Amino acid sequence: MKVLVIGTGGREHALSLALSRDPQVTEVHAAPGNPGMADIATLHPVDPLDGAAVADLATRIGAGLVVVGPEAPLVAGVADAVRDAGIACFGPSAEAAQLEGSKAFAKQVMAAAEVPTAMARVCETAEQVADALDTFGPPYVVKDDALAAGKGVVVTEDRQAAYDHGVSCDRVVIEEYLDGPEVSLFAITDGSTVLPLQPAQDFKRALDDDEGPNTGGMGAYTPLDWAPDDLVSDVTQRVLLPTVKEMAARGTPFQGLLYAGLALTSRGTRVVEFNARFGDPETQALLSLLRTPLSALLHGAATGTLAEVGLPQWRDGAALTVVIASEHYPESPVTGDRIEGLDEANAVEGVDVIHAGTKIDEDGNLVTAGGRVLSVTAVGDDLDQARARAYEAVDLIRIRGAHHRRDIAANLPG
Ligand code: AMP
Repeated sequence: MKVLVIGTGGREHALSLALSRDPQVTEVHAAPGNPGMADIATLHPVDPLDGAAVADLATRIGAGLVVVGPEAPLVAGVADAVRDAGIACFGPSAEAAQLEGSKAFAKQVMAAAEVPTAMARVCETAEQVADALDTFGPPYVVKDDALAAGKGVVVTEDRQAAYDHGVSCDRVVIEEYLDGPEVSLFAITDGSTVLPLQPAQDFKRALDDDEGPNTGGMGAYTPLDWAPDDLVSDVTQRVLLPTVKEMAARGTPFQGLLYAGLALTSRGTRVVEFNARFGDPETQALLSLLRTPLSALLHGAATGTLAEVGLPQWRDGAALTVVIASEHYPESPVTGDRIEGLDEANAVEGVDVIHAGTKIDEDGNLVTAGGRVLSVTAVGDDLDQARARAYEAVDLIRIRGAHHRRDIAANLPG
């Protein structure tokens, strides 16, 4: 099978790498891809937001499966365009992607499906914002209703900062604060069958000790030895299956990757958010331990035959990823800096250096081209070994002004 991956980030590089190592995949193509993917995939300079152009490309190369990585093309209807062209596509329709595209819509679905989540209010005026802030009290949680790549959420004790963020957006969701550790649980679904992956944890804040602003994600690891044994079965029964059932009942079945961001609060597990695609950087860690051929899961979801695939199988051990970000990420990332030391880093045992915001400049040098530049992913017999390998590789990479967290999976709950 030929597979076409849509996107440019670390997640898409990790998906392409797993597919390139999958015996059922004959060719990996990517649009537009990134320089790291060029070694394992044929790159096509096609706009990932242009559904007609993506469908055209998939037809031209004879793709048996298209995998849409990021949220923006999903919300723009790229998966619909590919399916309309008669090609199997992994990723929800534009309507179903609203589970991620609108936090207000996600709250409605959760209410209808009786999924446990934070109490919330949708606000469109300054008065509503002020009223909701005072109802829920500090710490304040204020979320831009629109897609914001993980950066539209402000969690703060500072009422003025919460208010300012609230009134700067057209529509915000203000909600109750959820305490407790966060867990990312991904599930592959064809709209009825749900196959959960193993849980992972990501690190959203820019700085060590969970300081600094929220980012797209600065690191991740899997599995979570400290998590309750029944976490996956409990969330499957109380969150994933009811949500998938509710989406089908609405006539907008959700097919693709349903990402449940969870808080394990003192009052039980609550959904913090849904995403409609693989999370970045948890995917980098998860895929490096996945034993089941990735194409079987993605194709099964895309064709409604997931029940035949069976639960995903995992390698023993642990995987961990550390994101290297450019100077001044996430506020105003500086780009165009030379990236050096990747061959040495890639040579560290168990390590894959995954590209995200990189490009080749006019002089043929690899340079930074985005906020999150690389995610260095390592597997090991246990988390300590995976972490040591990942940081050994990170320390071999040289980028002026770049920063990364030193404490990924260093201080675990429990
Ligand atoms: P979201 O985009 O909804 O996932 O929010 C991004 C991050 O903000 C989450 O991963 C949490 O760290 C934090 N967050 C979101 N909602 C809440 C909440 N209700 N209580 C506490 N933290 C939250």
